[in-house]
Amino acid sequence: MKRILVTGGAGFLGSHLCERLLSEGNDVICLDNYFTGQKKNVTHLIGNPYFELVRHDVTTPYFVEVDEIYNLACPASPVHYQYNPIKTVKTSVMGAINMLGLAKRIKAKVLQASTSEVYGDPEQHPQKESYWGHVNPIGPRACYDEGKRCAETLFVNYHQQNNVRIKIIRIFNTYGPRMHPNDGRVVSNFIVQALHGKDITIYGNGMQTRSFQYVDDLVEGMLRMMGSREDFTGPVNLGNPGEFTMLELAEKVIKLTKSNSKLIFQPLPADDPMQRKPDISLAKKELDWEPKINLEEGLGRTIDYFKTIV
Ligand code: NAD
Ligand code: UDP
Repeated sequence: MKRILVTGGAGFLGSHLCERLLSEGNDVICLDNYFTGQKKNVTHLIGNPYFELVRHDVTTPYFVEVDEIYNLACPASPVHYQYNPIKTVKTSVMGAINMLGLAKRIKAKVLQASTSEVYGDPEQHPQKESYWGHVNPIGPRACYDEGKRCAETLFVNYHQQNNVRIKIIRIFNTYGPRMHPNDGRVVSNFIVQALHGKDITIYGNGMQTRSFQYVDDLVEGMLRMMGSREDFTGPVNLGNPGEFTMLELAEKVIKLTKSNSKLIFQPLPADDPMQRKPDISLAKKELDWEPKINLEEGLGRTIDYFKTIV
């Protein structure tokens, strides 16, 4: 049995990861400050003798003996990470330093939840791991993008300088049950609006694209990356290469919810990337991984979840 620390474990992705790790017979410590996550995401796990819930902020050091660390702590939706941008940078950078310091002392393997946002508003399409990105360092998304880029730098430096065993994944837009209904992300916004029969808010002309991955596919990729050969550190893209405009997404959500909602157009936020799609050849080669759940199927499951909470 492995003992595993999941930071940000009470969040959307973290809660699914904790569940999967427990189901595979691991001992899981879920650490969270509940900024964007919620206890109710993991209350069903409380009572499992191999699950511990710890209230802690990753910007201060944390001491524990574990074999593996998944570092997910960080607000992920633009609304939440822009709420307190200084704190977002601190969470990414100081959180990475604290988790890398811990991994170094206890010789644990540590995985960083990085993001497709390190590519910024990309000029190469689809995005390969070798692309350095196109990020505005002083724009509204910089606290998140640059914080995550600096965290990647720290991971690589701790690996090269101190032999810390690292894994970096770059996660592309992921959706599924337990997304926060008010976090402002496009999938949750559209579903909640459609279920309430309210107008669907398209930012800009809706021609910008994203590639949406269902949460279970991501969790599978995370476990494969953690278990990959020791000298494969990444970064590796984990995303679904299916690419959709926001107008196409809105149409699918309206159809699947059988909603009467109409589209309304609102201003495009500054620095909003125009296109995004992962090149996943590296994940296929190194992890024998590719997503299995297409957008209709994943949206169906997510809509079923939202019907129970809104
Ligand atoms: P989320 O907001 O649901 O989860 C983040 C969790 O981290 C929350 O539970 C929050 O309370 C916790 N947290 C935030 N600051 C903290 C701090 N200082 N100390 C301790 N805990 C803290 O978001 P998510 O979608 O589950 O994202 C999880 C991770 O995956 C994040 O690091 C995010 O950047 C990354 N990621 C997510 C996506 C996506 O599409 N969901 C895409 C790329 C990267
Ligand atoms: N978006 C939209 N309507 C919404 C929320 C988001 O049109 O109600 C757009 C947003 O401008 C962006 C895309 O959907 O182009 C994805 O936004 P999200 O916040 O989910 O993720 P990110 O921009 O970080 O990829």
